[in-house]
Amino acid sequence: MKKTAVFAALIAAVALAGFLIYDGVANKTASADFFAMNTYVTADITGKDSAKCAEEAQKIVESLDTAVLSRTAENSVISHINLNGAGELDEKTAGYFSKLIEVCEKSGGAFDFTLGSVSDLWSFGSSPAVPDSEKLSQALSHSGYEKIILSGGRIEKSDKEATLDFGAAGKGIALDEIKACLESRRVKNAVVSVGGSVLLFGKKEFTVGIRDPFGNSGSYVAKLGVSDCCVSTSGCYEQQFEQGGKKYHHILDPETGYPVDNGLLSVTVISKSGLLSDALSTACFVLGIEKGSALAREYGCTAIFIDEDKNIYVEGDSGIIEITDGSYNLTERT
Ligand code: AMP
Ligand code: MG
Repeated sequence: MKKTAVFAALIAAVALAGFLIYDGVANKTASADFFAMNTYVTADITGKDSAKCAEEAQKIVESLDTAVLSRTAENSVISHINLNGAGELDEKTAGYFSKLIEVCEKSGGAFDFTLGSVSDLWSFGSSPAVPDSEKLSQALSHSGYEKIILSGGRIEKSDKEATLDFGAAGKGIALDEIKACLESRRVKNAVVSVGGSVLLFGKKEFTVGIRDPFGNSGSYVAKLGVSDCCVSTSGCYEQQFEQGGKKYHHILDPETGYPVDNGLLSVTVISKSGLLSDALSTACFVLGIEKGSALAREYGCTAIFIDEDKNIYVEGDSGIIEITDGSYNLTERT
């Protein structure tokens, strides 16, 4: 009798130890912090394969940048097309082009990934200044997504001077590639942030802050309760400068070549797809609240607009947002 009790206790202890070890392995964490795509990238991963995935996440972003999307890396796909006017794409890259052309079309050209030469004239990355208006209209005349023809795996520019720039969607694409990697590994949950785009991976509910457009990078106006999605924010505060008492930022109106000036300070879009959350946050910023909301609705995404009068407008699931700064108002659209 006594022997049986000891045996049972032993079994229970072994099972508990096994569970603790298993749980410990399942909750193993790893992280990666690095600079790529002209921004800071952080990945915090929990799960058996966390260490391997943290390494893979870094490789994914770095090689997507230098081999495919970068406009400055000499051998990237985008550089090749910009230089030669055409190029062959693998299936995955052709898919990115196809989805982005669709966003260009559905946004009526508000989103346009051919503004590279126009963007360059503003020199946001180096010494930003208002460009010469002649040069600006010249560069603008060579832009326009309609000049990009995708046919099967071949991409061609009808105007050789059009300059591809995936700056408004590349970070989201990186999140999609990391997400596919995490799905193929033993990972419980993860938070990966590439500049203004964040992947929340797993069943857990995460809290994501929306930055105060008037504050510094650590100040927030609202928090979102979300899971299993990507959250991207396009904010005028990301890259801006002042000249002649006026502020200029990096999100450009494809019709004028000048920064969008519609009273919005930031737009946040939530989507299962990183490419869409990133591209749509830029598109909705350019379109403004009414047209931007219609576009977000068409894609089934939630969009949060913040304007210069501290109004916050939500299109979609308003249940996920809690305003944490009393000087901002959650405002109904009329
Ligand atoms: P994001 O921060 O995702 O809104 O992307 C802004 C970046 O996208 C800029 O720095 C430019 O490189 C590029 N860009 C600016 N205006 C547009 C636009 N209207 N459509 C597409 N890309 C743009
Ligand atoms: Mg974007």
